[in-house]
Amino acid sequence: MIKSHNQMDKRYKMQYIPAKTIVTRTRDDSWFGTDYTMNIYKGCCHGCIYCDSRSDCYRVEKFDTVRTKENALEIIRDELRRKVKTGVVGTGAMSDPYNPFEQEFSLTRHSLELIDAYGFGAAIATKSSLITRDIDILKLIRDHSPVICKITITTFDDTIAKIIEPNADPSSTRFEALKKLTEAGIYAGLLLMPVLPFINDNKENIVNIVRLAGKHGAKFIYPFFGVTLRSGQREYFYDRLEEGFPGIKDRYINRYGDNYQCTSPNSRELYRIFAEECEKHKILYRMKDIIRAYKAGYEYKQLSIFDYD
Ligand code: SF4
Repeated sequence: MIKSHNQMDKRYKMQYIPAKTIVTRTRDDSWFGTDYTMNIYKGCCHGCIYCDSRSDCYRVEKFDTVRTKENALEIIRDELRRKVKTGVVGTGAMSDPYNPFEQEFSLTRHSLELIDAYGFGAAIATKSSLITRDIDILKLIRDHSPVICKITITTFDDTIAKIIEPNADPSSTRFEALKKLTEAGIYAGLLLMPVLPFINDNKENIVNIVRLAGKHGAKFIYPFFGVTLRSGQREYFYDRLEEGFPGIKDRYINRYGDNYQCTSPNSRELYRIFAEECEKHKILYRMKDIIRAYKAGYEYKQLSIFDYD
């Protein structure tokens, strides 16, 4: 059974796994304009029932057990130092960089210090309010490079969040984290994904999330009205659906079969409502607009330095 944050054994001994590289070049920059990807931890204990990282194709054994890469900070330092080009380093794609162990181990925090020292930018995705601990470093990075913080919120309802993201902070706590970030002047917003068909793909959920995002200072929301399912992940998801939402599994099987992309039957209407609400609250929601906004000003700075050379 997965332990919740406050049940977590304080004497937990971190397991280390060997690693050759940690900061790798991204194949394309269409996802929030990131240039590099960094995963310090392997596995995640937030227990999200829909987590894509459980898929067989990633071959992560014991996914719910968090492990860290041996000599992670030394490897990151060497890799950043050797990069010919700086850029934005993204983290949070395969595991949450602010898992409960980060409180004690501070590896994400120290990697941000390195990102700052070597003049890179940062793009962080998390479901944890622990990100607010590192506002001081994010401010330092922001002084020279773009920073974007993406808080994932899939439902405004803490009761549903407890079922679908059992060990992550409640949605209400994540909204508070968003507020702290934006009040500190950090460019922050929401990832609204996945929006699970037959569970949270309804107007009430979408309208409330956008409204609360606006209230807590979100600069952007990037959505996906559906979920992706692959071998390994699908079986885990269906088992949890049986426990938390009896009867829904059959609706998935009937509608989607073995499909990878499981788009909500309401996706068109939900997107229309979502876009309308975002416009109302002056929140960006198109990827190109979000990238342009959080990187605004930094290109000019580089050009100016070049001009003086
Ligand atoms: S926080 Fe992210 S990586 Fe962790 S279980 Fe949830 S979806 Fe997976």
